[in-house]
Amino acid sequence: MRERIGCFSCNRTVDWGEYFICISRLRRIRSEQGDDEIVNAMASLQVCIYCVARAQFDSITIHNEVPLLELEKAGFYWFARRLAGNTEPWALSTGEHSCTLCRSAIKEGDCYTQIEISEEVAKHEGGIEVIPESISKLATICDSCAKKYMVWWYDTYGNIIDVA
Ligand SMILES: [Zn+2]
Ligand SMILES: [Zn+2]
Repeated sequence: MRERIGCFSCNRTVDWGEYFICISRLRRIRSEQGDDEIVNAMASLQVCIYCVARAQFDSITIHNEVPLLELEKAGFYWFARRLAGNTEPWALSTGEHSCTLCRSAIKEGDCYTQIEISEEVAKHEGGIEVIPESISKLATICDSCAKKYMVWWYDTYGNIIDVA
């Protein structure tokens, strides 16, 4: 169970029942059956509806806890404008079988990171509910690009540190 959701822009706590936008990084293992297991997950960005409304017209300050990828920043503004009715498609390729950044193939048994943006609701019980139809893929990133761009942080033993 996650703690109360804080907005990375205005720092206020998202109230129960309130919507917010979340960018998730999901590290998965490609399997032939297609039910790719999630091995690590974190939220790289959480923004409340008031700041999302500002982001539709202006750039907002983001106090990110982990370095954001340029594509995550761009994806956030794209998604905010989309909620305001903009219909421009997302500019990057998000195919499942190759890395968005270096185009190398993601094969069976490979770990990769999926970056998604979605609308979520803070639940009274302390959990969150993802609005399934809101989920948009921003990128599929191979493990070597994930290391290069510090998508995950590692301890001295090579294990991923949970930062979220
Ligand atoms: Zn906010
Ligand atoms: Zn790559």
